[in-house]
Amino acid sequence: MSFETLGLSKPLLQAIKEQGYTKPTPIQAQAIPVILQKKDILAGAQTGTGKTAGFTLPMLELLSRAKPTKQKHQIKALILTPTRELAAQVHESVEVYGKHLPFKATVIFGGVKINPQITKLRKGVDIVIATPGRLLDHIGQKTIDLRHVEFLILDEADRMLDMGFVNDIKKVIAQLPKQRQTLLFSATYSDAIKKLSNSFLIAPKLIEVARQNTASETVKQAVYHVDKVRKRELLTHLIGEGNWKQVLVFTRTKHGANRLVGQLDKDEITAVAIHGNKSQNARTKALSDFKEGKVRVLVATDIAARGIDIDQLPHVVNYELPNVSEDYVHRIGRTGRAGNKGEAISLVCVDEDEYLANIEKLIKKDIPKVWLKGFKPDPSIKAEPIKQGGGRGQKGSRGNTNSRNRPRNRSNRR
Ligand code: AMP
Repeated sequence: MSFETLGLSKPLLQAIKEQGYTKPTPIQAQAIPVILQKKDILAGAQTGTGKTAGFTLPMLELLSRAKPTKQKHQIKALILTPTRELAAQVHESVEVYGKHLPFKATVIFGGVKINPQITKLRKGVDIVIATPGRLLDHIGQKTIDLRHVEFLILDEADRMLDMGFVNDIKKVIAQLPKQRQTLLFSATYSDAIKKLSNSFLIAPKLIEVARQNTASETVKQAVYHVDKVRKRELLTHLIGEGNWKQVLVFTRTKHGANRLVGQLDKDEITAVAIHGNKSQNARTKALSDFKEGKVRVLVATDIAARGIDIDQLPHVVNYELPNVSEDYVHRIGRTGRAGNKGEAISLVCVDEDEYLANIEKLIKKDIPKVWLKGFKPDPSIKAEPIKQGGGRGQKGSRGNTNSRNRPRNRSNRR
């Protein structure tokens, strides 16, 4: 099975190629042809299965096949998500897969000013990705026109119901044309999901894919306890000892990434950094040098690493633990892909004990600990607060909007 045989046209195939995807995931192989037949679907799929591309690609395909309308941009597709983070991620995917198509997409969620969203909507968009609360605010203020919506996608519908959005969803749907295609994605099939599906989907095709093991279950993980000042020495030791040829190393900050590259250079280990301050050209070059084996170590920050897709990456090192626990799962998911063996090592100093505890809580397991001879931490060193170099984890950043840490009350959800 290839993307070419699924019925997607060139601009999408090109974007898929640029992402480095070689074949559709099971959910994509099953959902894309059915969606292209304009059928409703009820899909059971978790995060990590490739579900986002599973609905975004055929949605873009159908939008691109439609006859042009008088008004250049009209909202034709509405994607509802439970959280701001997911909305932002789906928006990013729509941009990535739709980069060779003329559609405009925008994201709408609470916790940020409404006016810039209104301005964007006024200028005209084709695709809206939204959380229900803020979308209802726009509906109430009549700043959004949903009369031309042809696609409604409910992503992670079970989570939306868990978060108490059922009435909000119903109110939103009441604004949409009856004649539309509805796609519902949910990790679980509860009675509430069935009820929602019965009310709003028409003869949906059921699609279910087996649960994929998450990276945190398949990747061999270890925590090496070490003093902060000796992390670089330990990293150099591990690279040399294991004769690692290709290792992706994560730091929390851009500055930290640059500094580590300089230090590894002194240890005669070829390394290059990618982060937000580097130009796209510099990032592309760094990545290709790494892929071709010209450099052994790629040092990345979380945001820069998002777009990285490297097959069979054997080693990931968390030089510093992320302050957003979910980022740990994303980081280690860079190794052990598609059944290949992978190893994720975290170098943890006493300052990071709380981050580690939060990560273990999130992945619901203890990561094996190693105290390497010659690198045992000095017990007299006391924990110090970690300075945040980037915007994350600080006020107003993604760290604070972390869905798992956020209390589930309504004012916080909007
Ligand atoms: P999702 O389940 O939509 O959150 O996607 C999980 C991850 O799989 C994302 O990082 C995607 O970039 C990646 N992905 C989606 N489709 C494919 C594919 N066909 N081949 C390889 N990776 C993919």
